[in-house]
Amino acid sequence: MSNNENNTRVAVVTGGSRGIGRAICIALAKQGKNLVINYAGNEAAATETLNLCKEANPEISAITFKADVSKEEETKALVDAAMNEFGRIDVLVNNAGITADNLLARMSIEEFDRVISLNLRGTYLCCQAVTRTMMKQRFGRIINLSSVVGIHGNAGQANYSASKAGVIGLTKSIAKELAARNITANAVAPGFIATDMTNAMTDTAKESVLGSIPAKRAGNPEEVASAVAFLASDEAAYITGQVLGVDGGMGA
Ligand code: NAP
Repeated sequence: MSNNENNTRVAVVTGGSRGIGRAICIALAKQGKNLVINYAGNEAAATETLNLCKEANPEISAITFKADVSKEEETKALVDAAMNEFGRIDVLVNNAGITADNLLARMSIEEFDRVISLNLRGTYLCCQAVTRTMMKQRFGRIINLSSVVGIHGNAGQANYSASKAGVIGLTKSIAKELAARNITANAVAPGFIATDMTNAMTDTAKESVLGSIPAKRAGNPEEVASAVAFLASDEAAYITGQVLGVDGGMGA
């Protein structure tokens, strides 16, 4: 039986177990949205996110769901799980993402394909998997995580930058396709945010990026999450096809 008889809005967040995805889940829980928290393998982290969401707002319902969103069958299973649990999907946040940095001369085809496969193809697969439901509902909010490097490029990240530039093209195109159905699609482009992803960088690389940020500090996941939560709100109905930078001035 659906757990959503009062039509509370429902959000699916990919990669909701850690970092920016976790902060997004908590921000959406505070807005009163029921949640499907997707993760790839870290079940303990996903459960911790679920507990933090319930703590932030005991009124909401939330489930965790393991799926590799670069795989078509698994994205379908994720959407089916959301529909079985809640009977609707109002918000999709395509947040799951990876890096595999290397200079072009050394980048393997496997490194290129792996990053494109999750960051771009996975975003496409999830958008497509929710579209029919959102069209029937005549309501939807799609928010795709891009990056400042998807706009400006970055040495050592040809694969990642290409994937994030692709996310912008995808977002703008589907925004045009879906606008008449009351479905918005926007991208959020973070700069340098303190998460496991950026923690993996060398100290020298971190210092060099920090020096280039006009705000002179890294952003935190909550600062990205509040931008996503705004775009996911009913109030953001007339904003679509946009790229919102959350980058301390890096992309200005
Ligand atoms: P993170 O800390 O590395 O977390 C990655 C998340 O993605 C985890 O929840 C992980 O799940 C999930 N994930 C990885 N592979 C997956 C797959 N195949 N299927 C489903 N989920 C998968 O990353 P983050 O820094 O929070 O980044 C989140 C998003 O923001 C990414 O799209 C990233 O490109 C973008 N972004 C980040 C920054 C930054 O500075 N951090 C800047 C610009 C854009 P598990 O926990 O199960 O492994």
